[in-house]
Amino acid sequence: MSSTLIAHQVHKTYPSPRGTVHALENVSVSIRQGDFVVALGASGCGKSTLLSLLAGFQFPSAGRIAVDGQVVSGPGADRGVVFQDDALFPWLSVLDNVAFGLTLQGISKAEKQARARTVLAQVGLAGFEQHRISEISGGMRQRVGLARALAANPSWLLMDEPLGALDALTREQMQTLVLDVWRDTGKGIFLITHSIEEAVLMSTELLIFSPRPGRIVARHEYDFARRYANGESARSIKQDPAFAIAKSQVLDDIIQQTEYA
Ligand code: ADP
Repeated sequence: MSSTLIAHQVHKTYPSPRGTVHALENVSVSIRQGDFVVALGASGCGKSTLLSLLAGFQFPSAGRIAVDGQVVSGPGADRGVVFQDDALFPWLSVLDNVAFGLTLQGISKAEKQARARTVLAQVGLAGFEQHRISEISGGMRQRVGLARALAANPSWLLMDEPLGALDALTREQMQTLVLDVWRDTGKGIFLITHSIEEAVLMSTELLIFSPRPGRIVARHEYDFARRYANGESARSIKQDPAFAIAKSQVLDDIIQQTEYA
C-alpha cells in the first residue's frame, strides 16, 4: 500500500534572547511513495527544521506531521535520515557501520550483515565492505551514510544537504546514484539542497523557501527526474532547453523573494 507523509499547516517557533524566531510559517507538504520533494532556499529558511519535524526529532508549534493520518510522535524506522556530515564510526568497517543501524531491530548478526551487503551493493560499494571509514573518500562516506539509512528499508528518505560537501564531479555521480535508488526502490524522498541545478534535476516537486518567517513561496512540478528514471541520461536532460528554462524560472523566484524580503 502506498503511504503518505505530510506536514499540514505547520508552524514552528523557537525562543531566543532576541525574541521569538519564526522558523516555519504555515508550511504544508505531502510526500507519497515515489515522490521526490526537494526544498531549496538560502540558509535560515527553516528547511532543516522541516526535515527534523518530518523525522520526528522535534514537534511543530502548530499544525501537524502525520503518516497516513497518524500523527508522528517521534523518529521511526519508516523514515530514514541522511545528513551531510554523517556520523559514521571511523574505527568500524563500512559493513559494520551499516549493520550498526540495524542494532535496534532485533535481528540476527548474520541477517544484519546480509542486509548491509545488499544496500552497500545498491549504493555501488560492493567490494568495500571491510574498508575502514578512515580509509575511504568523502563521496564514499556519503554512500555509506545513504546505505545506513536504506538498511532499515524505510518508506521515506529524508536527506539534509547530503551532497553539499562533495566536489563537483562526485556530486554529479551522487545525484544520479540517489536517483537510481529512488527509481529502484520507489521510496518517497525529501531532499534539502542549495543547488538550483540539483533541485530541478532531482525533484518531482520543488519547494522554494524564503526566510524570516520560513515559508514556501513557490512550488514547481518537474518531470526531469522521471525522464532519468525512464532511461534518459542526466547529461541529455541538462542539455534540454526546457531544463535551462526551468532553472532560470527558479532563479527568478529566488531573486524576486529576496528583493521583496
Ligand atoms: P535552514 O535549514 O533553511 O538553514 P533552519 O531550519 O536551520 O534553516 O533554521 C531556521 C531558523 O530557525 C534560523 O533562523 C535558525 O537560526 C533558527 N533555529 C533553528 N534551530 C533552532 C533552535 N534549536 N533554537 C533556536 N533557533 C533555531
